[in-house]
Amino acid sequence: MIKTNKYQFWFATGSQDLYGEETLLQVAEHSRVIVAELNKSGILPFEVVLKPTLIDSASIRRCFNDANADDLCAGVITWMHTFSPAKMWILGLQEYRKPLLHLHTQFNRDIPYDTIDMDFMNLNQSAHGDREFGHIVSRMGIERKVIVGHWGDKKVQERIGSWMRTAVGVMESSHIRVLRVGDNMRDVAVTEGDKVEAEVKFGWEIDAYNITDVAEYVQAVPKGEVDALLQEYYDTYDLILDGRDPEEFKAHVREQAAIEAGFRKFVEEHDYHAVVTSFQMLSGLKQLPGLAMQRMMADGYGFGAEGDWKTAAMVRLMKIMSAGGTNGTSFMEDYTYHFEPGREAILQSHMLEVCPSIADGKPAIRVMPLSMGNREDPARLVFTTKPGRGVACSLVDLGTRFRLLINDVETLKQERAMPNLPVASALWRPEPDLATGAEAWILAGGAHHTAFSLDLSAEQMGDWGAMMGIECVFIDKDTTIRNFKNELRWNEAAFRR
Ligand code: MN
Repeated sequence: MIKTNKYQFWFATGSQDLYGEETLLQVAEHSRVIVAELNKSGILPFEVVLKPTLIDSASIRRCFNDANADDLCAGVITWMHTFSPAKMWILGLQEYRKPLLHLHTQFNRDIPYDTIDMDFMNLNQSAHGDREFGHIVSRMGIERKVIVGHWGDKKVQERIGSWMRTAVGVMESSHIRVLRVGDNMRDVAVTEGDKVEAEVKFGWEIDAYNITDVAEYVQAVPKGEVDALLQEYYDTYDLILDGRDPEEFKAHVREQAAIEAGFRKFVEEHDYHAVVTSFQMLSGLKQLPGLAMQRMMADGYGFGAEGDWKTAAMVRLMKIMSAGGTNGTSFMEDYTYHFEPGREAILQSHMLEVCPSIADGKPAIRVMPLSMGNREDPARLVFTTKPGRGVACSLVDLGTRFRLLINDVETLKQERAMPNLPVASALWRPEPDLATGAEAWILAGGAHHTAFSLDLSAEQMGDWGAMMGIECVFIDKDTTIRNFKNELRWNEAAFRR
C-alpha cells in the first residue's frame, strides 16, 4: 500500500573555474565514476543522479531551485572535489528547501606516496574544499547530514542509504493524512497535542470524522467481499478457538473482515494514510477494530489507539522510512514489567492492535472479550515478536514544543509461553538497562504509546527530527541520568521560542 515517488538524489559536485578546463573534465569524470559505482553497489535504496559540476553562483542557485521544483528529487548530495569558494553557495542554499547531504569524500582512497605531486594535490583537495563548504552551511544554520569516508567503503554506502530513507521520510512527512474516528481517550494527557502546530511543523493533516461515517462503509461491504476476505484470513493464519464453537468463532472473525474492507474503502476514497480509533467511540461498529487494524498496519498504514494521532502519524512515517524492510514496524504500548534480576524486560502489547510485520512466526486468530469497552468480543491476531535491535519512539507535546524520544531497545526471544494472554506482544529491554532507560523515559515525559521499528535506527529518527526542527532526546547505551537531566535542562533554553 505504500506508494511513494520513485525518488532520486542529485549529486552536485562543487568546484570553480580557476583550475582550467582539463581539471574540470577530470572532476566531472571522477563524479561520474562515483555516481555509477554508488548506483551499482546495490546498497542504496534510491538512485543517485549526476548533475553538471557547479562552478559559479548562478549555476548553484539554478541547481538547488531545480531540485526544489523536481517532484522526484528527495535531496541533494554535495561534494567539493576541489576548492569551491563558499560565498558562491549562499544564494542557492538560502533558497533550497529539501534534505541536504554533505558527502565528505575524495576520489582516491589512498595517498599515492610514490607519485604524488602538486598537480595531484590541487585536484584532490576535498579535505580542504569541503571545510569551506561546511563553514558556510554551519554559518547559515542549515540542517544537513555530514558523512565522512571513502565513497567505495561499504559502511559509507550504508550510511548514505540510511540517510536516503530519512530524506524520503522528510519529503513524505509533509503529506501524511490521518483519519480520526475517535477523539482522545477521556482524561488522558499524553496522547493529546496541538494539531495545528503538528501541521506547521510536520505537514500532517489530522481530520476527524464520525465513526458512523465509516460504519456505513462497513455495513455496505458486499457479502461476497467479506466472505473472500474471511477465507483469506483462514488461509493465512492459524486459529485458536479457545473452546468456542467454530461457527460462532467464525462469525466474530467475519465482523473484522467487514470492518477491514469498510475501513480500507473509506481511507482509499478519502486518501488517508493513518487511522486513529477509540474504544470509547464505536457507534455503528459491533467490535473494536482489531484484526482489521493489524492488517492495515501490515500494509503500511499508520495506526494510533485511543485517539493518539501523534503515534499514528509516526507509525506511518516509520513505515515509509522502512519500506521494503523485513523486520517490521508497529504501534506499541508499554504494559508490564519483568523485574527478575539480570533478565529485566518490559512486556509490550496493546488491547489488540499490534502489527504482524514484527511477528516471530505465523500469527494466529483468537476471539476474546475486551477488558474495556462494551462491544462484542473482537477477533485479533496473536503472536510474539522477532528478537533483534530496534528503536522505540514517542512524540510528546510539551505545550510549547514537540519532543521526540528515541530509545534503542532489544527485543528478546520470548521463551515462556503466555497461554492466557490473548494479544500480540513483544518483550524488550531498553538501553542502557531497564532501570536507567525507564527512568530517563519518565523524566523526559515519554508516553506509554510508541512507534516501534526493527528496521530503523536511532540515527535515522534523530536526523528526521533535526530536519523537522524539533527537540530529539536519545536514550541509549551512553545514557546516564545525571547527563540526561542536564541535557533536558539545556534543551529548555535551546528550544525556547
Ligand atoms: Mn493504549
